[in-house]
Amino acid sequence: MEAAQAMGFYEQLGVKRIINARGTVTRIGGSLMPPEVLQAMNEAAQAFVNLDELNRKAGEVVARCTGAEAGMVCAGAASGMVLQVAACVAGADPARVRRLPDTTGMKNEIVIQKCHRNPYDHAWRMAGVRMVEIGLARTVFPWELEQAINEHTAAVAYTVAPWLGHEALPLPQVVEIAHKKGVPVIVDASATLPPAENLTRFVKMGCDMVTFSGGKGIMGPQSSGILCGRKDLIDAARMHASPNHAIGRPMKVGKEEIAGLVTALQMYVNRDHAADMRRWTCLAQTIADGVSDIPGLLASVECDDRDRFAPQAVIRFTSAWRGPSPAQVADTLLAEDPPIYVGTDAGRDEVYLNSHMLQEGEAEIVARRLRAALT
Ligand SMILES: *Cc1c(COP(=O)(O)O)cnc(C)c1O
Repeated sequence: MEAAQAMGFYEQLGVKRIINARGTVTRIGGSLMPPEVLQAMNEAAQAFVNLDELNRKAGEVVARCTGAEAGMVCAGAASGMVLQVAACVAGADPARVRRLPDTTGMKNEIVIQKCHRNPYDHAWRMAGVRMVEIGLARTVFPWELEQAINEHTAAVAYTVAPWLGHEALPLPQVVEIAHKKGVPVIVDASATLPPAENLTRFVKMGCDMVTFSGGKGIMGPQSSGILCGRKDLIDAARMHASPNHAIGRPMKVGKEEIAGLVTALQMYVNRDHAADMRRWTCLAQTIADGVSDIPGLLASVECDDRDRFAPQAVIRFTSAWRGPSPAQVADTLLAEDPPIYVGTDAGRDEVYLNSHMLQEGEAEIVARRLRAALT
């Protein structure tokens, strides 16, 4: 029913539906919400409530699910990053809260490893801080972190993502060094689910504030996220967040998103994660099997805790390959109807197809179209 309505709407606007073999990428829609989540949003939309009270109660669920002291719902992980910095820089002092992004007289430096710099760190910079880089693109030493932390340091920022930072200092070591100097560690863990253990892992390591996207692996509303961690910092983050008139006010989270996120998060922690992994592996295998006999290509299913957090069919183009390039294959898949989005951004001679967001029956379509695009 919902799907049919959505299709009608997109058709009316003249917007194409696509097949997502790329993963929980925001630009192509992130993830799809289960019917229970849509129902919770629908219900929440039909009554007025006090948003502070709602987000406090929601925060108790977030805390329980993440193992953190406290939590709250925010408008996506990027907004969680703004709130992390705001809380660490200005705390809960109302005068300072109102002054941001002017951080004059406040601790206003965020230490970050160079290999963690990425387009999303704009969100960390937004509250008016200076990013203090340590290390080089591919090397960083513990003493560099020790020396970078001084009386102006508000926090040490850390990104966990499959596509960068493999050379970074390990998170437990960063926590140890930062805490020895009395400085909090803030983590962007936006797209780290799966594996499901990551939901509690960084909090368990002692990270002070961690943010996740609500609209990626958790499959909640696209414009939702969670922020969890130390109680004093989450209390401060609330002061900076909508509905308060502060730096977080443009990142409003509505009652519908809060209801959807809380429902999605509870469903997520109760899922059979091993069964999910098996299903995604099977779907990726269907795609890999479809092209495994083509000479010059190597097709495999891969999943690891480094580059590929969810199972992917990886098609490697060997030196014996004489056909189209990975980019040409991706273009062919995009040119037909429905367009199929795949990954070619790994910086290697490969096309990867992420099965995480494939819907019923799509793996077979992808396998067939991929084969046609290659041969
Ligand atoms: C997606 C993403 C974000 C932003 O998360 P939103 O929930 O879309 O705001 C931040 N950092 C990384 C590494 C991401 O992949």
